[in-house]
Amino acid sequence: MVERYPERVTSFVAGRAWADRGSELPIVDPSTGERIGTLVEAGAEDVDAAVRAARSAFENSGWARMDTGKRQETLLAAHDAILAHADELAELECAALGVPLRELRERHMRRAAYNFRFFAEFIGQMRGEVYDQTEGYRSIVVREPVGVAALIAPWNAPVALASMKVAAALAFGNTCVLKPSEQTPLALRRFVEILHEAGVPDGVVNLVNGRGPVTGAALVAHPGVDLISFTGGTETGRAIMEAAGRRLVPCTMELGGKSANIVFASADRERALDAALASIYSNNGQQCLAGSRILVEREIAERFIADFVDRARRIRIGDPRDETTELGPLASAGHRERVLGFARDAAADGLTLLTGGDAPRGLPDRLSGGFYVEPIAALAADNAVRACQQEIFGPFATFQIFDGYDDAIRRANDTEFGLVSYVWSDHLPTVERAVRDLRSGVVWVNTTMTRELRAPFGGYANSGVGREGGEACMQFYTEQKTVTIPSRPIAVRRFGAG
Ligand code: NAD
Repeated sequence: MVERYPERVTSFVAGRAWADRGSELPIVDPSTGERIGTLVEAGAEDVDAAVRAARSAFENSGWARMDTGKRQETLLAAHDAILAHADELAELECAALGVPLRELRERHMRRAAYNFRFFAEFIGQMRGEVYDQTEGYRSIVVREPVGVAALIAPWNAPVALASMKVAAALAFGNTCVLKPSEQTPLALRRFVEILHEAGVPDGVVNLVNGRGPVTGAALVAHPGVDLISFTGGTETGRAIMEAAGRRLVPCTMELGGKSANIVFASADRERALDAALASIYSNNGQQCLAGSRILVEREIAERFIADFVDRARRIRIGDPRDETTELGPLASAGHRERVLGFARDAAADGLTLLTGGDAPRGLPDRLSGGFYVEPIAALAADNAVRACQQEIFGPFATFQIFDGYDDAIRRANDTEFGLVSYVWSDHLPTVERAVRDLRSGVVWVNTTMTRELRAPFGGYANSGVGREGGEACMQFYTEQKTVTIPSRPIAVRRFGAG
């Protein structure tokens, strides 16, 4: 149980708290709207110190060239430490994010711990390539860590998402500077301390806190950064990749989504209904992979949508610390305004509001300043409406009714994004066709949000560049070096020998 939240949240450089000076930003508990702490923003000098610490650790701490077994031990110790502190980390995350505590403890923190175990196990099985087709020569390909990674994380699942980046960067021998979202710094700040308590050497993981255009931009522009892994909005990703391009720094971009959830008449409707609700309303609706465009085949649409709306109205909204809460507050006042704006403008935008769109009634007084919304569902006139094209990033489901396979796929693919598609059907040929025709980095068939870490995760089009996952992270976080050795002394052309 966290007795008190830290009043001042600083950065963390070279194994210790860093610089209690800089611009001060409020940390707000979205469940009450109250200020619970102050974030001390890292400026360009602090970012410089963090990158230098990471560089020095890369060159001198032994981490980059450490025996794999030893590095695995540290990663597994980090796994154990995260699990041991799961309650504390979940409470800190909940305080600034507002996602139900139970979801944070049982899903996010377990996933964070597992990320370390996954990459510990992965590096134990790595191997190189050998080419010996050219007679008298053998070429081997070895992998080496790249250097200092800048890891930039969003606010919607701070520890769960950033831990994947940190675990991958470290596993392959890199050092890093992590930049959490300025909205949700509490749990990640403690997370890096826990990594150090578990034995990660000083300087291997550094953390700089602050706003994107200040701290984030300084990090991206720093000449000591060798790699950038970013998760966040598409526009931010574009700006970061432009800056990185000037220095030819490799990037991975995990960006936004507007994923279609296609429910064919041949689906298991009960399961598809449960999954449709979970895909849009879990994590308070704030997920890149949300199934936010629900496409239902006409012959089952009326009943399916009615059942969905009925269930959405019965979702338990409230204090995220309450174990029975299913939907907590949105992450900030501004974000709630934006989400509610889509509901307010519904009629003008070609939407028929089916449920939600207001602040919920009946919450206790102590939550009256929180950023709650009723879960929203709306029927869209067609796929071109704003709510079907823009990422809302809240508990806002849009429905469209389709006629036949081609219509479903056309609507699903009519988007600037391409992160995930969901397909619900028990008719195998329909599933096979849809898997082939959908333009997205991930297709989930008759399941919801099942992340397989071994497999690549990432988006087509404006949903991203590059992938995360076992092999994909190995490609990104390592350099390949080809070494060619002859098996006997070779005859070399003798310039100047007459
Ligand atoms: P955001 O783009 O506003 O911010 C993400 C991070 O980038 C934050 O740490 C922010 O401070 C930083 N940042 C902002 N401007 C910057 C700049 N100029 N230079 C460097 N850093 C900068 O996104 P957000 O609102 O925090 O997160 C929500 C978005 O993230 C949504 O679009 C969502 O879809 C996306 N997301 C994608 C995935 C995925 O895996 N594809 C996962 C989660 C969230």
